Amino acid sequence: MSEQRAAGGVTVHEAPPSRILVGAGARHAVPGETERLGSRRVLLVATRSAGAAADELARALGPRLAARFGRPVVHTPVTVTAEALELLRAHGADSVVAIGGGSAVGLAKALSVRTGLPQIAVPTTYAGSEMTPVLGETKDGVKTTRRDPAIAPGTVVYDPELTSTMPPGLTLTSALNALAHAVEALWAPDATAATDTWATEAADGILTALPGVLTDPQALPGRERLQEAALLAGRCLARTRMGLHHQLAHALGGTFDLPHAELHALLLPHVLAFNLPAAPKAAARLARITGGDPVATVGALARGHRGPTTLGALGVPRDGLRAVAERVAAQPYPNPRTPDADAVTRLLEDAW
Ligand code: NAD
Repeated sequence: MSEQRAAGGVTVHEAPPSRILVGAGARHAVPGETERLGSRRVLLVATRSAGAAADELARALGPRLAARFGRPVVHTPVTVTAEALELLRAHGADSVVAIGGGSAVGLAKALSVRTGLPQIAVPTTYAGSEMTPVLGETKDGVKTTRRDPAIAPGTVVYDPELTSTMPPGLTLTSALNALAHAVEALWAPDATAATDTWATEAADGILTALPGVLTDPQALPGRERLQEAALLAGRCLARTRMGLHHQLAHALGGTFDLPHAELHALLLPHVLAFNLPAAPKAAARLARITGGDPVATVGALARGHRGPTTLGALGVPRDGLRAVAERVAAQPYPNPRTPDADAVTRLLEDAW
């Protein structure tokens, strides 16, 4: 199992993926990694944004490229997976390589868990899905999530050069999405010394490197730091139970079909303001990193986004907030402060 289980007070640490390559130019190792898996027929899944990297990999694979699928969609609709599965079978693929954000990585997970084929993830955002044994899929507009060790990619290749094409808006919102994984790990009920360390380093990396990368998007050392932070934040997401922030993102994203990273980014300062008074360890660590008030620091970053920075601007109707708050309060994820419906409504009103 990839999650920790406490049996008789014993914590079990298991940490897929088993093989992680990190560094500028690491993408050039992907053909060798497919050979290492014994693969002769690679299905390449890549979004258009990753087109150049996918072309480069296709050339390097030569005749070992079985087919390419170029239309992964956010939240992994099962209809798209069925289409890609048909291509995979028609071309006799024996491994899957995904290059792109969480959408491409999610599709490769969906293909791998259906076929048992090995997968290599080459992430180009900071979403962190590649580090988790979790798959969210959408069928008839309803998203369901499952957890299975077989879902986690066996190999992950982090190449910061692939993130230098992220526009400033995506850089900002995706980095805050990763920060949310780290922050929620700090106040998680099942946090361990290991997850605390990863979460603290991830938060430090993001809050230290992000301002510089927003000014100079090509700055490779800053991009490397952000990507390493995303790796650790992804580990936190895999290994701890997420709280109110992720519950709100799931509830709002699912109900109103909202863009993943932008939603996370705008919610985070509001959830920090709500939870930090009840989460002293997280508050102390984040105060040390920011040298002051974490809510103000994260809030200023989030408001710096040139796109939508409120739920209203994202298209959420104000009269829909109460129902979301009631749903969240009825079955809360583990959270340091009890999210009663009135308090969550106020939080959402503030974010609106
Ligand atoms: P995404 O993959 O949908 O990408 C967002 C947009 O950015 C797309 O248009 C994409 O083409 C573009 N893009 C990606 N990388 C780029 C780059 N380097 N340069 C320029 N453009 C680029 O979004 P995401 O935020 O990475 O992932 C969101 C999806 O991942 C959601 O479906 C979410 O549920 C899922 N997710 C799953 C987990 C998990 O553990 N299962 C974790 C995090 C996210």
